[in-house]
Amino acid sequence: MSSNKTARPADQTETWYTETLHADLRSSYRCRKVLFDARIDHQHLVIFDGGRFGKVMMLDGVTQLTTSDEFIYHEMLTHVPILAHGDVREVLVIGGGDGGVAAEALKHRGVQRLTLVEIDAGVVDFSKAHLPEVSRGAFDDPRFELVIQDGRDFVADTDRIYDLIVVDSTDPIGPGEVLFTEGFYRDCRRILRPGGVVVTQNGVPFFQAAELEQTIRFFSALFADATCFLAAVPTYTGGFMALGWGSDDPGLRKVEPAVIARRFADAGIETRYYTPELHHAAFALPKFIGDIVARGRRR
Ligand code: SAM
Repeated sequence: MSSNKTARPADQTETWYTETLHADLRSSYRCRKVLFDARIDHQHLVIFDGGRFGKVMMLDGVTQLTTSDEFIYHEMLTHVPILAHGDVREVLVIGGGDGGVAAEALKHRGVQRLTLVEIDAGVVDFSKAHLPEVSRGAFDDPRFELVIQDGRDFVADTDRIYDLIVVDSTDPIGPGEVLFTEGFYRDCRRILRPGGVVVTQNGVPFFQAAELEQTIRFFSALFADATCFLAAVPTYTGGFMALGWGSDDPGLRKVEPAVIARRFADAGIETRYYTPELHHAAFALPKFIGDIVARGRRR
């Protein structure tokens, strides 16, 4: 599937890119200037100036990030598990070739090594060139290591052990599909240190309930604690986005608020979305999302 670029009949000078993720919705961004639009190794990559949205990156017609709201997704996907855990040293990121998760995780001085496994070298290359404000130097951090490989194969083969695994994947279409399978999650569990945590990009439950239910079903068989937490990202249309959570330590998401606040203060990092108060609130699920999680746990 390629990105759907259209010139509007009313004004032939305007270019619009249309997201094609959901069956019953098409949302379009006005493109001020195309920065990159071509097939890379595994996917079709587009980066353009989207005006109010800043720069927009799409893969195979699906919005991956915009520089106007990427901080929400990247902060929540990293600071919640790192501050809940309290002693994350080894981080594995699967996907995430834009460098946003790496940038947030490497803000933590305790992180000794971050390995990013991205299937498509082009995502890294063109993100470095066109989106340096997302990775903010992470690719040059001495603790950063890049592996260009399918994340499914990496977790199946590696013997290294991680405190935190962040699955910053595309949606379960194309190369990202394997990152939502039972076998992939089982290998993540195998390479997770006791007391560690796996977090995942799990879509917008309003549109992608089945995807969340399936992850919870697989997680429930593997982890003592299987749930999701939430973030509202404007460009991921449909309300809250779900971030999957799996850990053999149910206590991780019940750490005292005062402890989280102290860890956050000690980390000395600046955020624009994450706060220690929001950390706990993010696990409070609206009824319809709680019902999806409950269904996944029952099966
Ligand atoms: N925030 C985004 C979202 O909500 O969809 C995710 C962005 S991130 C750029 C997703 C990355 O996952 C892409 O760069 C893509 O190339 C990578 N990816 C997809 N399938 C993969 C796989 N099997 N192994 C490793 N990386 C993969």
